Amino acid sequence: MDASIGVLMACPMSLYLEQELDKRFRLFRFWAQPSRQEFLKTHAESIRAVVGNATAGADAELIDALPKLEIVSSFSVGLDKIDLNKCKEKGIRVTNTPDVLTEDVADLAIGLMLAVLRRICECDKHVRKGLWKMGDFQLTTKFSGKRVGIIGLGRIGLAVAKRAEAFDCPISYYSRSEKPSTNYKYHSSVVDLASNCDILVVACALTPETHHIVNREVINALGPKGVLINIGRGPHVDEPELVSALVEGRLGGAGLDVFEKEPEVPEQLFGLDNVVLLPHVGSGTVETRNAMADLVIGNLEAHFLNKPLLTPVV
Ligand code: NAP
Repeated sequence: MDASIGVLMACPMSLYLEQELDKRFRLFRFWAQPSRQEFLKTHAESIRAVVGNATAGADAELIDALPKLEIVSSFSVGLDKIDLNKCKEKGIRVTNTPDVLTEDVADLAIGLMLAVLRRICECDKHVRKGLWKMGDFQLTTKFSGKRVGIIGLGRIGLAVAKRAEAFDCPISYYSRSEKPSTNYKYHSSVVDLASNCDILVVACALTPETHHIVNREVINALGPKGVLINIGRGPHVDEPELVSALVEGRLGGAGLDVFEKEPEVPEQLFGLDNVVLLPHVGSGTVETRNAMADLVIGNLEAHFLNKPLLTPVV
């Protein structure tokens, strides 16, 4: 590899990826720059690639500031932090990390369902705080057989469905089009889906159309016994509406891996025992993060060696 090729990493994401990029390219760490403006003035001309993730990618401003940018390689499957239209317009290639993280995210969705319904985190606290000696834990809610509704039957949505089926859960879904390849029940609106399931899982891509796809109407349709699981992106859910529904008991519970303004989490949720809050760790295993890093490196190498990209988006 030509070690003079400038690669800009948008934020810290994987030490392994950082080390491997450092071996092959001239790596710039954007977050470590005292002044981004000064940094861009000095180095913009030498940067030919940006590596981003679910936290920071390449918005229009950054793309415009990098005249030699050829490729944005994202350490994520979601593309919501990249201005795809701008990339298309300027002929900048875009890659992501599909498939390698699907199992982890789907596993975590099932974990959240079990944790919320069976109160696993609360049970753990009960034991640690010595409360068991004072009495048994309250009864919880059965998971097996609950009706699972999925927004976005893509790679992750399908993997969640497959896992939930093993718990005898009837599956239904909403997406822009019915999938003839499955027997799962299709609902043509999210409200309809929410009215007909016990657990609603958000697994679609974040786009302007899916921003706040889970709103007050959907939350009310899911109802006081319903559970929301969000392993998509925070802005899929109208968070103030979610918080008030949980506080007022209009929603039964929630398992959330993602939030609207990460790492900020509404403090009203901290006191609720029917929610499980995770710090965006859907793909956060050593195995998967390394596989994602290999894919980012593979895509960059392919691009700069004029070979076909491994996982092209644009
Ligand atoms: P995917 O295979 O592309 O699936 C995305 C799904 O979103 C598709 O089934 C698509 O269905 C649906 N969709 C797109 N626009 C929609 C709309 N307007 N209304 C309803 N559904 C819509 O992607 P994936 O690999 O499953 O990943 C899905 C998302 O999970 C990613 O975009 C990312 O944001 C999130 N994710 C989160 C984590 C985490 O750590 N929590 C990790 C990885 C990924 P149709 O085309 O049929 O509408």
